[in-house]
Amino acid sequence: MDVRDGFIGSIGNTPLIRLEGPSKATGCNILGKAEFLNPGGSVKDRAAIAIVRDAERRGLLKPGGVIVEGTAGNTGIGLGLVGNALGYRTVIVMPETQSQEKKDMLRLIGTDLRLVPALPYANPGNYVRYSETLAKELAETEPNGAIWANQFDNVANREGHAATTGQEIWRQTGGRIDAFTCAVGTGGTLAGVAMALKEKKPDIRITLADPLGSALYNYYAHGELKAEGNSITEGIGQGRITKNLEGAPIDDALRVTDEEALPLVFDLLKNEGLCLGGSSAINVMAAVKVAQDLGPGHTVVTILCDFGTRYQSKLFNPGFLREKNLPVPSWLAD
Ligand code: PMP
Repeated sequence: MDVRDGFIGSIGNTPLIRLEGPSKATGCNILGKAEFLNPGGSVKDRAAIAIVRDAERRGLLKPGGVIVEGTAGNTGIGLGLVGNALGYRTVIVMPETQSQEKKDMLRLIGTDLRLVPALPYANPGNYVRYSETLAKELAETEPNGAIWANQFDNVANREGHAATTGQEIWRQTGGRIDAFTCAVGTGGTLAGVAMALKEKKPDIRITLADPLGSALYNYYAHGELKAEGNSITEGIGQGRITKNLEGAPIDDALRVTDEEALPLVFDLLKNEGLCLGGSSAINVMAAVKVAQDLGPGHTVVTILCDFGTRYQSKLFNPGFLREKNLPVPSWLAD
């Protein structure tokens, strides 16, 4: 029998998909790791299980304990489902600006969802900072204790990606890979994959893809954490060097605007049947830019993070897109 063991056993081993349009346009192999096919619907299932298993091994998370986390949504969904499968309750703190679809999903799966205003990290009311405070409180009051998952600075996140995502990409490409690029939320995916691939092939190119509104491009290109502009994408963009990013073997960075990325994701849906979210748009556009830079004949891998249906009310909403002066998919324009 070829059977996976429940939700946990179904995380990872996702397909690597050749993206026809971007590959043709560049003369390269542009390959997308189909993380939207994880059982919780996103790349963050991997971080969720890596963090939970690490906390169990360290004896921090006890049977019947509570997992607390601040998240743009996908990590909360991953943790909520992992928690359901393993018998932990989850308390999720999320900025109220995130998509309605992710809020609905978090409630549907039974997490205890706390919405907070979107505040900068320096403010103690910021969703990440508040989740840490809440975890400390619950650790005192919950009968079986509570942990703070701390996906941004808990390196179990990138270690999980190094042990799984990175190895899978190496195996699936048979080592025929010239570059890897993706955007950063926590940095777990980029750093973990980068660490695994650099170990196999030291001259592989690792490029950080940054949406507008994020400070990382300026940091890696000019040594200064500085953000400009904004983006409708969710789950990516960062204003500081997280512990997951610290020391990661990143060669360079490039910036991708929503205006250039969104048409690509609309094309991938209409022409190739792949319904992807906004961070995947940034990633695929970055892969195209890296491929153009390398020239024809190269293989560039990126991450297809989650499904477009998670952003129906934004990314695929003509009214919302027009309001933001962004391109509208032709079949949705009325
Ligand atoms: N895309 C989406 C949709 C996400 O939710 C996240 C996680 N915040 C990312 C990309 C970035 O992944 P990472 O946290 O591993 O940098």
